[in-house]
Amino acid sequence: MRATTAFNKMLAIPGAHVAAVTFTAEGVVVDLARRAKRLRCPCGWSTRALYDRSTRSWRGLDLGATKLILRAEIRRLSCRRCGRVRTEDVPWARPGARFTRDFEDVVAWLAQRMDKTAITRLLRCSWEAVAKIVGRVVADQLHDSRLDEVYRIGVDEVSYRKGHRYLTVVADHDRDGAVIWAGEGKKAATLEQFYDQLGETRTAQLQAVSMDLGAAFKKATDTRAPQARQCADPFHVIALANEAINKARRWSWNLERDKARAAAIEAGTKRRGRPPAGTPAPRDQARWVKHSRWALLKDPDALEPKQLEVLHELRRSGSVLYRCWQLKEGLRDLYRLPDPTDVPMHLDWWLAWACRSRIPAFVTLSKTVRTNRDRVLAAIELGLSNSKLEGLNSKIRLINHRGYGHHSAAALIAMIYLCCGGLTIALPMER
Ligand SMILES: [Zn+2]
Repeated sequence: MRATTAFNKMLAIPGAHVAAVTFTAEGVVVDLARRAKRLRCPCGWSTRALYDRSTRSWRGLDLGATKLILRAEIRRLSCRRCGRVRTEDVPWARPGARFTRDFEDVVAWLAQRMDKTAITRLLRCSWEAVAKIVGRVVADQLHDSRLDEVYRIGVDEVSYRKGHRYLTVVADHDRDGAVIWAGEGKKAATLEQFYDQLGETRTAQLQAVSMDLGAAFKKATDTRAPQARQCADPFHVIALANEAINKARRWSWNLERDKARAAAIEAGTKRRGRPPAGTPAPRDQARWVKHSRWALLKDPDALEPKQLEVLHELRRSGSVLYRCWQLKEGLRDLYRLPDPTDVPMHLDWWLAWACRSRIPAFVTLSKTVRTNRDRVLAAIELGLSNSKLEGLNSKIRLINHRGYGHHSAAALIAMIYLCCGGLTIALPMER
C-alpha cells in the first residue's frame, strides 16, 4: 500500500484527498488536494471565480508522538454577499483556525474537564491557542435556536476577578438551569442586551423570571417583559436574612459593650475611654455575641453540639440575638411549609413580627420583603429558585482555578457556555 493511500484511509479528510506525505523534523506533513473546484465563503455564498491563492498549514491530532501537519492550497474569493475579499471555507477546519476541527473539538472536550496547563502539555499548544479554540468551538456550537423555547428563566450576577468585576448570567429553568446567555456587567442595560437578543416575539413568550431583590434586573424586566411573573429568588431572600443577623450581631455587640462599660464606670472600677491593653473583656456576654456567628447562621440541623450550646445560652440569657435567630428561621420556614396555601398567611405573620421586633436590621429587612411580597410568593408558587445559578459562582471559581478565563470577560463567557451551557462536544473518535 502506498503511503498516500494509507494516510487517506487513516485521516479521512472531508472534501480532500492526500496528495503527498513528507516526514520532516517537525512532524508528518500531509499535502492535501481539494475535490471541490467551487470556492465557498464562510457566509455560505459560493463562486468559481478565484481572487488569489496561497498555502496554509493546519495542525491535526498527533499520530502517536508525531505531530501531524496538514498542508493545502487555500484560496481567496471576492464575496458578493459579504462585499469584500474573504478566505474560502475548508471542510476540515473552522474559519481562521490553524488547527483542524478534530483537534479543536478534542481541546474543547478536554477544557470541560481538565486544567489548561495539562492540555497545553498533552497537545503541545500554547495557552493562547487553547483560549482561542474554546472561543471558536463555542461560537460554532452555540446556536441562536437555544433561545427559541424559553419560558422560565433565572437571572443572576456572578463575580470574577476576586469580586471586582461582574457578569450577568441567564439560565433556563426548564433545561436544568443551563446557561443560555452571559454578558459583561450587572446593570439593567446588561439584561436589556439579553432581551434584545431574545427579540420581541420570544420575549413575549416568557412566563416567569426569577432574580435577586435588586433594582437592576427588575427594571429591565418591567420594561421589556412586563407579562412575565417576577419571582424573588429564595436564596437571595435568605441571604438578606443572614446579612441582617450579621448586622444585628454587631449592633447588639456594641450595645452589650456599652452596657458593660457603663456598669464598670458606675462601679468605679474603670475610667472612661479605651481600656488598657491586656484587659479582659468587660463581660462575657459581648464575647458570646462575637462568637455566635455560625451558631446563628447555620441550618439548625447542621449545628455542632458546641454551636447548639451557644444557641441555648443565648436563649437562656434572653439575648436579643436569640430573637434574631428565631426571625431568620421564621423566614426560612416560609420555604419549608408543607401546605402551600399557608404561605401567604405565614409571610404576613412574619412581616408583622419582624416589623415590631425593634431590631433595626430586621425592621429594614421586613420593609424590603414587604415591597417584594408578590415576587416572594410567586417564587414559592411556581417553585422557582436560582439554586443552579448559585452553583455557578463556585463553578467560575473552578474555571479560574483551572487557569481559564481570567484574561478577558469574553474568554470567561466562552468557558461558561462551554461548561455550563449544556453544550455536548462530540469527540472525533466517537463520531
Ligand atoms: Zn461571504
